[in-house]
Amino acid sequence: MKVGFYGHVRQYQNIQKEIDANIQKVLMSGEYVHGPMNKQFEKEFAEFSGTKYAIPCGNGTDALWLTLMALGIGEGDEVITNANTFFATAEAIWIAGATAVLIDCDPLTKCIDPAKIEAAITRKTRCLMPVHLYGQCADMPAIKKIADKYKLWVVEDNAQAIDAAGDTFKIGELSDAVATSFIIQKNLGCFGDGGAIVTNNEQVNRVTKLLRAHGSPARNVHSFGFNSRLDDIQAAVVSAKLKHIHAWNDQRGVWAARYTAGLKGIKSFDLPYHKPGYRHVWHLYVIEAKNPANRDKMVDFLVKNGIDAKTHYSIAIHQQAGYPWGKGARTVGSLANAEKNSACCISLPMFPELTAEEVDYVISKCHEMDKQFA
Ligand SMILES: *Cc1c(COP(=O)(O)O)cnc(C)c1O
Repeated sequence: MKVGFYGHVRQYQNIQKEIDANIQKVLMSGEYVHGPMNKQFEKEFAEFSGTKYAIPCGNGTDALWLTLMALGIGEGDEVITNANTFFATAEAIWIAGATAVLIDCDPLTKCIDPAKIEAAITRKTRCLMPVHLYGQCADMPAIKKIADKYKLWVVEDNAQAIDAAGDTFKIGELSDAVATSFIIQKNLGCFGDGGAIVTNNEQVNRVTKLLRAHGSPARNVHSFGFNSRLDDIQAAVVSAKLKHIHAWNDQRGVWAARYTAGLKGIKSFDLPYHKPGYRHVWHLYVIEAKNPANRDKMVDFLVKNGIDAKTHYSIAIHQQAGYPWGKGARTVGSLANAEKNSACCISLPMFPELTAEEVDYVISKCHEMDKQFA
């Protein structure tokens, strides 16, 4: 049996009529950039997010740095985030001209460890950027408390956790803005690149809308800006998919529970931690090899058995030789949990369109693997 890592085509086939009809509507409207479909999606997405404003843009990375710029964060400023995240989190901070201050993650959730934040705060700190890694929210109440104490902005990197929630809070409730990505492999994916900011902050709404379109408030009038737009065909795709995202995330939860039950008793790797009361949307189902020396061999075992296992992310930000060190980033304290995560992580196939047979096949191969590596 072969089990892929993504279900893009299956998902398209499941709602092909709705997506095709939406795309057709755009094509026949003759307005393909910031046209009616973009406006429609903007409204739908703000409503879905429970925020006053949504600002669709070119991709998730742009959503992050456009937000930082709109908050006036740049040269000489520091933004605190965790070292174990997708590269774009730190990249966005650097693009905005600020310095990424990388700290350790919580050993269980893998999200930023709030207990490590205060030690990283300096006179230059302007913003905290928690990442809701793998589809589970960071501890926002603890983060918000620190932000209030030191008067810092909070920008949530929500590329991986659309429609997730905490036990007592929603995404966007305890921050100044939320950035998300619609690249195809994310839980809510378009057919290419896309992203959005959601916020209740009027300044973020107004300034990011200017920055994303050549700083142009009206025809022929410009200030400093860029080009970062969600085109209307991609808006048509995410608009159609938005109606299904909650049910799709529920289905991810069903597969995660099936993995977790089926993998009970495994000795060679740890299972992902699900925080009680949190709505986890399982962007990724990440197990951790107990012995880092076995990780790559375990991935090879799965791949040889037809299972498209991957790693997210086997090189932490501070381990990236290509990162602009010095001005671009620095680390604070031990990064032992982030380093363990990068050395041990293995992502099993996780998408709503998996079948029970495929999940059970992965489980059975994991047990075979366990005999070899326990
Ligand atoms: C995917 C991702 C991004 C960037 O999104 P793009 O749309 O690829 O620019 C940022 N942060 C995290 C955590 C991501 O997973």
